[in-house]
Amino acid sequence: MKLHPVKSARDIRLDDDDARVPGAGRQSGKAVERATAKQVERIATLQRVFYADGRHALLIVLQGRDASGKDGTIRKVFTAVNPQGCTVSSFGVPTPLEARHDFLWRVHAQVPPRGMIGIFNRSHYEDILVPRVHGQLDKDGMLERCEQVNDFERMLGENGVTILKFMLHVSRDEQRRRLQERIEDPEKNWKFRAGDLDDRARWDEFTRAYRAVLKHTSTKHAPWRIVPADDKPLRDRMVAETIADALDGLDLRYPKADTTVKDLTVE
Ligand code: AMP
Ligand code: MG
Repeated sequence: MKLHPVKSARDIRLDDDDARVPGAGRQSGKAVERATAKQVERIATLQRVFYADGRHALLIVLQGRDASGKDGTIRKVFTAVNPQGCTVSSFGVPTPLEARHDFLWRVHAQVPPRGMIGIFNRSHYEDILVPRVHGQLDKDGMLERCEQVNDFERMLGENGVTILKFMLHVSRDEQRRRLQERIEDPEKNWKFRAGDLDDRARWDEFTRAYRAVLKHTSTKHAPWRIVPADDKPLRDRMVAETIADALDGLDLRYPKADTTVKDLTVE
């Protein structure tokens, strides 16, 4: 059950059925939890050497509709990571100052330096999706921003930043359940905004915008992965494994002590 990178438009399946993993019901909840715990531990172990090595940065982009599980994924997948080696940046509606800059200004400032894992809870992709759906960006404007994003991400890649992009794909029904819970559960009220219902009403427009953006920004150096996100434990498992594998593939090593250090003795 690995997540595959989007290589062509054919890989972009965003129907309601695609929010579930086929045959997933056969796995016991306990087995999935154990598998996730293993990946979470792998991430924690690899992060130690990743931090010490200091040659690479890892940028994890989490996109998805409201209630698609971005916050939950961060809570579960990074639970064992040393907070000192990790930053989380959330992107909301641009402030007046942000809106006066180019759309990548606020984003670039949050890209992790080498040695760090940076998590984007929403991202520069909101700056394409939202204005596209709300009519402020026509098709050419959208394609222009996609090209600018591709250039930006390629530049980051050439400067030591590995980028993993996840689109958490939730079905219409599951989103309804989760939003309803936010309305009814006093402990979840704070997560709900009336605007969430406006975005839900534009479900098909967002699907179309996501499809176009995923198609035009899934590059060799920074491909998208679509995560079937209706089942939370499976979602965590798949995201955690992808991140652990990416860290594993970086050929990390602890820097060698310099020779003068080797000769010292602590009295
Ligand atoms: P949340 O992630 O629930 O805190 O909500 C953040 C809100 O900010 C979402 O409704 C996003 O769509 C919105 N948002 C984030 N970035 C942008 C953007 N660049 N333009 C417009 N809305 C945005
Ligand atoms: Mg929200």
